[in-house]
Amino acid sequence: RFVTFEGGEGAGKSTQIRLLAEALRAAGQSVEMTREPGGTEGAEQIRKLLVEGAAGRWQSETEALLHFAARAEHLAQVIRPALAAGKWVLCDRFADSTLAYQGYGQGLDLEWLWTLRRHIVGPTEPGLTIMMDLPVEKGLARAETQQRYERMGLDFHRRLADGFRQLATAEPDRCRIVDASRERAVIAAEIAGLIRERFGV
Ligand code: C5P
Repeated sequence: RFVTFEGGEGAGKSTQIRLLAEALRAAGQSVEMTREPGGTEGAEQIRKLLVEGAAGRWQSETEALLHFAARAEHLAQVIRPALAAGKWVLCDRFADSTLAYQGYGQGLDLEWLWTLRRHIVGPTEPGLTIMMDLPVEKGLARAETQQRYERMGLDFHRRLADGFRQLATAEPDRCRIVDASRERAVIAAEIAGLIRERFGV
């Protein structure tokens, strides 16, 4: 029961993850909440390199490899052990973000990224991916921080949003697009319904 949340800036992923974790725990479920890049000590160090880097510090290839390096640590130390222990794993961003940001957004070869993904993620693909979809202008207005990606142009964010939609369309069984422009309780109820539909809980 591995559920990932994806989407552009300001889509409300972390709020919805928290609400879902609360609902599952209230139903007696054991839940591990985590995020990418990050989730382990080493992966959080890699996150710092990525997020705090000045704009243009890294080559796009370097950035993609750092994301996958952090992901390998996260999978080995947190995600796979939690799933093996029968816990739910709710993750704020996962491999779809790398495809969207570094692939569709920054123009890296999608096949190369998929090859890395297959090697690093292997059989641990999410059972359900919630794609939080929001008009680009709204998301940027909502995003709290002004890190390097928030500072990128509208074109970049449009490619990103389009990338997430293409990823969702290519894997309709795994991915569900959720309209993130609505009230948070309405979104939470829809996500609870998707969880029930997929996992019967
Ligand atoms: O939105 P969140 O706080 O989860 O993401 C942290 C930062 O890392 C954001 O600026 C996001 O745009 C960026 N990011 C990225 N490539 C990824 C995942 C996140 O550039 N694969």
